[in-house]
Amino acid sequence: MRRGGAVRVWLLRVWRLAALGTVFTLVLWNAAAQRGRDARPIGLREVQALWGDVAVVDPEVGPLGRALVSWDGATLGHALSTSPAADRLVGYAGPTEVLVLLDGDDRLRDFRIRESADTPGHVRDVADDERFAAALRGRSVAELAGATAEELGIDGVSGATRTSACVVDSIGLRLAPLLGREGSANGVVVGMRDLGLFAVALGGLALAFVRRARRRLRRLYQVVCVVWLGLVVTDLLSWSLFGAWALHGLPWRATPGLAALGAVSLLVPWATGRSVYCAQVCPHGALQEWVGRIAPRGLRVELPAAVRGPLAALPMLSVFLIVGALLVGLPLDLAALEPFDAWLLGAASLASIALAVFTLLASAAVPMAYCRYGCPTGALLESIRTPSTARLGRRDLVLALLLAFAVLLFTCRDTARATLAGMPW
Ligand code: SF4
Repeated sequence: MRRGGAVRVWLLRVWRLAALGTVFTLVLWNAAAQRGRDARPIGLREVQALWGDVAVVDPEVGPLGRALVSWDGATLGHALSTSPAADRLVGYAGPTEVLVLLDGDDRLRDFRIRESADTPGHVRDVADDERFAAALRGRSVAELAGATAEELGIDGVSGATRTSACVVDSIGLRLAPLLGREGSANGVVVGMRDLGLFAVALGGLALAFVRRARRRLRRLYQVVCVVWLGLVVTDLLSWSLFGAWALHGLPWRATPGLAALGAVSLLVPWATGRSVYCAQVCPHGALQEWVGRIAPRGLRVELPAAVRGPLAALPMLSVFLIVGALLVGLPLDLAALEPFDAWLLGAASLASIALAVFTLLASAAVPMAYCRYGCPTGALLESIRTPSTARLGRRDLVLALLLAFAVLLFTCRDTARATLAGMPW
């Protein structure tokens, strides 16, 4: 490529990365400002929901922020919130705030999730798991303070292991200062799962660049991704993940493997034009490809051009909707917009399963139907892919519109929030 052409392509790359980076930064700033405003004192009602005898919750007790819980003049125990102390701990996608109730002997009487940035389905599973709650109740502050789920030997909730571990770790981190301890969940944790995710990212990267023996290797690699990434660890990239990262920052300490897979999937197509995640890694993309290959030819449907155009715009329109929802705090369950939660099998919602089945069946009629006409995650990854032959074009116009939309919503966010608050969600 001529020198002038290379400079042009790199200018294009800088613009695309800057545009998308600005959109995510606006979401992050907005969320940080909102969290400060939304900090809620512990209320009597939420304590009574777990501890019926309580008559008074005095929110101002001691420098360590324990609210005093009492009844008829007698102190029953204390109530604490894990936020902001544990806001930097990330479960699957973001932090989880927990209300912690300690009895008069400084034992954990009960706890409840107040708010969580993790997928609502995972949070529900943790909140409803009596076995998990029973494993924590009754433990002393001395046991819990500074300890992690792993150190306490507490099994995670099936299908929501990271969210449940985050609940335990957050309680440990919040209680640590009561005994003058350090929380032990602050460092970078690289587990076997992370090593596997690094390997998946490297494998995808290698396949994106190796041409020889690519087809057979790719099929084998797809099987590995479907089985291990999809069914065993269920770490598919999705907007519920990217949205949470935009709201809370990249969780490179808590889930370095997943953060690396996300970074490789965004930055390699940006810098080289080669698609890593969609073309090599995504288990849902691989299943669609397999369904398309084995489905009888007679099922194929040729969509008219007049339908293909508007349909192809749907993924990016979904991205606009998601960015808007993140900026104005619309209570949108991002996991329900995509079929990836269905890979959790037993823990998946019916809506996710139905969407996954529908998208797979659709790919029998229209090859890669969901990738082409539905997937907002694919649209995000594709939006900054810049091959060396790229030119300024429609993709840049859409990115400019997305940037303008985000700036507008960021500027008018208070008005938008006030309007939404009056709606019957
Ligand atoms: S477009 Fe979506 S479903 Fe298709 S491969 Fe990419 S992420 Fe997976």
